[in-house]
Amino acid sequence: MEIRKMTCVVCPRGCSLEVTLDGERIVSVTGNTCKRGVAYAEAEILHPERMLTTTVKVTNRRYMMPVRTRTAIPKDKLFAAMDVLMQTRIEAPVKIGDVIVSDLCGTGVDVVAAESMA
Ligand code: SF4
Repeated sequence: MEIRKMTCVVCPRGCSLEVTLDGERIVSVTGNTCKRGVAYAEAEILHPERMLTTTVKVTNRRYMMPVRTRTAIPKDKLFAAMDVLMQTRIEAPVKIGDVIVSDLCGTGVDVVAAESMA
């Protein structure tokens, strides 16, 4: 059995969770105040995901464009995703919510502009 400790980040209470694993199987989750903590621990261990926020180059402006994934993507795709976005070039004008990269690294998740640039 393996015990993994983590902090639930679903709400500001930040419960300290202890997850008991038997190989890949979750045996128990303790330390949670509500059942959302169990769901968080299961997701974090079985298929961890993260939102990605960064900037991309704008060829006709001096500033970078803040962008973000529309939803979380698998954590193991973050480095590949950053490589794609480091190579991405866009041209202003751009409106908030415009799709900058669609289906980022085959995740099915689009990267969108986080603000407008005239
Ligand atoms: S277990 Fe429940 S109460 Fe505790 S941090 Fe997570 S969501 Fe909040």
